[in-house]
Amino acid sequence: MKYELKQQFQIESARFLPHLSKDHPCSRIHGHSFVIILTFQGPLKQPEAWVIDYHEISSKMQPLLSQLDHRTLNDVPGLNNPTSENLCRWIFEKATPLWPGFLTRVTIKETPLTECSYPCA
Ligand SMILES: [Zn+2]
Repeated sequence: MKYELKQQFQIESARFLPHLSKDHPCSRIHGHSFVIILTFQGPLKQPEAWVIDYHEISSKMQPLLSQLDHRTLNDVPGLNNPTSENLCRWIFEKATPLWPGFLTRVTIKETPLTECSYPCA
């Protein structure tokens, strides 16, 4: 029997979207408090009776998050066009090797009202 686990992080980052017309607000540099939600699936590990230790998730994510937090995302290698879609994929590709077979999805909320996930369920 598999379980699903989610853990959220928040980063403060600046960005601009370079392929938009100059009159689009996202073409200008601006900031977001991005919420990052990692979703994991897996069986219970015994004797702990958990899938993955939340503390382990936090500590393994710190080096990745420090590349993004309080930075201009456009300056991060691989994120020259830092849409939420590209940010989801960037995090998914970097974080997947940390938990092989367990990380199933990365979700980004750039505002409380928007949400983007990769890959789709
Ligand atoms: Zn934006």
